[in-house]
Amino acid sequence: MTSVLRFIACLAVFCLSQASAQEYPTKVITMVVPFAAGGPTDTVARLIGAPMSKTLKQQIIVENVLGAGGTIAANRVAKSAPDGYTLLIHHIGHSTAPALYRKLPYNALNDFEPIGLINEVPMTLVAKKDFPARDLKELIAYVKANKEKINLANAGLGAASHLCGMLFMSAIQTELTTVPYNGTGPAMNDLLGGQVDMMCDQTTNTTSQIKAEKIKVYGVTTKKRVASLPNVPTMDEAGLKGFEVSVWHGLYAPKGTPKPVIDKLAKALQAALKDDNVKQRFAELGTEPVAENRAAPAALHAHLKAEIDRWSPIIKKAGVYAD
Ligand code: ASP
Repeated sequence: MTSVLRFIACLAVFCLSQASAQEYPTKVITMVVPFAAGGPTDTVARLIGAPMSKTLKQQIIVENVLGAGGTIAANRVAKSAPDGYTLLIHHIGHSTAPALYRKLPYNALNDFEPIGLINEVPMTLVAKKDFPARDLKELIAYVKANKEKINLANAGLGAASHLCGMLFMSAIQTELTTVPYNGTGPAMNDLLGGQVDMMCDQTTNTTSQIKAEKIKVYGVTTKKRVASLPNVPTMDEAGLKGFEVSVWHGLYAPKGTPKPVIDKLAKALQAALKDDNVKQRFAELGTEPVAENRAAPAALHAHLKAEIDRWSPIIKKAGVYAD
């Protein structure tokens, strides 16, 4: 092919992809959730998916792709066609995976087009209903004295529950047995059934069980108390000075997704975060949508980069990793 013909062919492909980007979306969109159905990430995906699909006038289906602390799902989306029909919702774990997984088969920052931040979620330290400790001080004493008997559920290496559990064990200088699940939805079922003892998980998964007194709560992991759980002290107030961690979610598309498509998705996300049902359910579950200017590609890119830079040295120093 002569260079002129090649140029014309390239132009045709470019124009075609631009045209289909303008028409986007013309078929069902899949939002990949890296954890099990019924857990906190799944809850946020389903809540924002409904109003986003209204704005985009296309169905959004949620697909739970499980395993390896969310990295299997992220890899799947990184390798998907960059056409806006396969999206990834992920949390803080997207920023800790590069340090935790030595052989991560994708680049968390460079293999994705950021669409926008979604929300910030406090975590809670919870235990099964008949756990003997009445408050955090008693819990710490009890855990230290009975460490061989006590286990801590999480959603796998790289999950927020894993990170929070690691910080807790390091703060009290006590190693516990951890029990990994494919998501904290199924882990919560076992906590309710008493098969596991403790978990650190997002308020989006724990609030209703705390309110129904089906599990015990020892603290929220944010600086300030959470409005939906006003009687629960912060971990700092309850005795673990400076203990603070919260989770954030972001929405991504594969690298190379055309800008007009990303812009449409970001607008739909911004509209979803103003939806009355989303605002009400988020408030009930103790989480907050981000401000409109943060539900945007540049804000998510900057936040993800800052979080990778923040967590990598902490994780390396802790010496936790997976091959
Ligand atoms: N968010 C949970 C965690 O990271 C996992 C889930 O959504 O099920 O622990």
